[in-house]
Amino acid sequence: MPGQVHVIDHPLVQHKLSLMRMKSTSTSAFRNLLGEVSLLLAYEVTRDLPTHQVPIETPLARTSAPILDGKKIVLISIMRAGAGILDGMLRLVPSARVGHVGLYRDPKTLVAVEYYFKVPKEMGDRDAIVVDPMLATGNSAVAAVDRLKDTHPRSIKFVCLLTCPEGLATFHAHHPEVPVYTAAIDSHLDDHGYIVPGLGDAGDRLFGTK
Ligand code: URA
Repeated sequence: MPGQVHVIDHPLVQHKLSLMRMKSTSTSAFRNLLGEVSLLLAYEVTRDLPTHQVPIETPLARTSAPILDGKKIVLISIMRAGAGILDGMLRLVPSARVGHVGLYRDPKTLVAVEYYFKVPKEMGDRDAIVVDPMLATGNSAVAAVDRLKDTHPRSIKFVCLLTCPEGLATFHAHHPEVPVYTAAIDSHLDDHGYIVPGLGDAGDRLFGTK
């Protein structure tokens, strides 16, 4: 059963993503671009946030206007590259709470191994948005959402910059009800679990660690 996938094909997102893909793009430019794209992805993923009317007074009249219902969003960053998306999203949703999931990919098996998990209290009242730039094999995303489900958030969405058919298939085989928001679905995964054409290792490009 295929799950929901939202491809954010806004020209600004696509333009910035193309710049990020280029191997000549510097670490600082990559970081800035990821922040900007994340802000635009945040705009899309929060499109259905509930609001309620409150009475307000403009300089001209009394009226009622919509504001967001409570501070219920929790952004869950998959370490370490999730930090790049997290920063951009927090610029748009500054009151969001933040959780972290630490996972590394075993280089031989590509299986996700957890080394850190910390989320806010009262997850049952919160809508979780899990962020990781690359939904590649899907193993980390599946493991992060498995773990997150133990805390029973009210809802879960997954946001990435790039994914591929293999990653989407794996993710939705395990979590068919979790919608994925992405800027692009690339061609395929290579034998090392990298997205092709992709943009390389998102963490290394973000932090300049290569
Ligand atoms: N993680 C990355 O950073 N890049 C890929 O292409 C796949 C996984």
